[in-house]
Amino acid sequence: MLGPNLTAAPRRKTRQIRVGSVLVGGDAPVSVQSMTTTKTADVDGTLQQIYALAGAGADIVRCTCNHQDAAEGLARIVPRSPVPIVADIHNNHRMALAALDAGVHGLRLNPGNIRNPNHIKAVATAARERGVSIRIGVNAGSLDADLYARFGGATPEAMVASAQQELAYFEEVGFSDVKISVKASYVPLMIEAYRMLAEVTDHPLHVGVTEAGPGMPGLLKGTAGIATLLAEGIGDTIRYSLTADPVEEARAGRTLLEALGLRERKNVDLIACPSCGRAEIDVIGVATAAMSAFGEREIPLQVAVMGCVVNGPGEARDADLGIAAGRRKGHLFIKGRNVAVIPEEEMVDALVHYAERIMAEGAAAVLAGADLEGARRAAEEDRAALLDEKGADANASEQSVELIRRHLGETSS
Ligand code: SF4
Repeated sequence: MLGPNLTAAPRRKTRQIRVGSVLVGGDAPVSVQSMTTTKTADVDGTLQQIYALAGAGADIVRCTCNHQDAAEGLARIVPRSPVPIVADIHNNHRMALAALDAGVHGLRLNPGNIRNPNHIKAVATAARERGVSIRIGVNAGSLDADLYARFGGATPEAMVASAQQELAYFEEVGFSDVKISVKASYVPLMIEAYRMLAEVTDHPLHVGVTEAGPGMPGLLKGTAGIATLLAEGIGDTIRYSLTADPVEEARAGRTLLEALGLRERKNVDLIACPSCGRAEIDVIGVATAAMSAFGEREIPLQVAVMGCVVNGPGEARDADLGIAAGRRKGHLFIKGRNVAVIPEEEMVDALVHYAERIMAEGAAAVLAGADLEGARRAAEEDRAALLDEKGADANASEQSVELIRRHLGETSS
């Protein structure tokens, strides 16, 4: 339970949309977003960062989709991501269509970059058909040139007009699963633009100060803009845009929401992979059992339940503690290092036992007392055996990649 909300005005009423498993708007908790800094084509590197972001508090992660190889990367990332993935689209609407082929949960379009109405409507139609939501991401620095001229600059009115123009294109093709942002790096400008936007639409709002910069000034600019609006009841999902490791963005977002009494965390933060073609256990069942075993215990550790030892320990290496399924057994790891092999039916009890030991003795002491080499070897053996059994493409990601290649090949010829 959150405590009494003494800081914020009543939340503005908005319609609710969905980004994969995360609801945005309506009575859904305010969510935290961040963006990867890796090349999206680097699947393993990007997944590691996504897991780190999820661990730091991100509910939704955005990845750039600027080239075909990035779209193909998304086809391989989406089935293994623990949180919904939004593709950030730049100038080329075909990358939005390719991202949809890759199975992303959301798109972000900048109306200042994709300006051809037919292209905008083609993307909205394809998103509608797949049940994928879109963020209209207006940015003061890349405002539509015509609107810039008409309003005499990137004014709050011009930014709101840009969002409304894009929304009108979407409505022409019957698409309304939309959230909107009107970001600027100048805090008073973004605050005013969001206030105006909140008056004219009931779409959920994604709030942020763009290009806030590095270090404390960036953090303070982001906080000044986002917290001011949240305290007025405006904002359904937030992102800090810091010139820093994106884990800092996710952490800042989460901390701000906790500070304002909008989100709470004091118990185990249980993360679980979404399960995919590689899963060796019923991830949902084990994660749910672990969740109820930890119950209300005040153990502020991040605990990961991962469906396979092929990718699990690497993807969740930032978790304090985790378990990854091998062949009828669990490989328990602390901070990405294998420490024990556990019979499948004892996995949940082992998680609770090791979490309590970490709280009592510290992770370093538990690691020092473990047979690290034996546990590593056992995990390696299972990993090799599973790769033999299921091959390198257990998720059939290559079918999505073929689809992307066929569609991009067709439209470019
Ligand atoms: Fe990742 Fe393995 Fe879970 Fe699939 S089953 S999402 S590869 S940890």
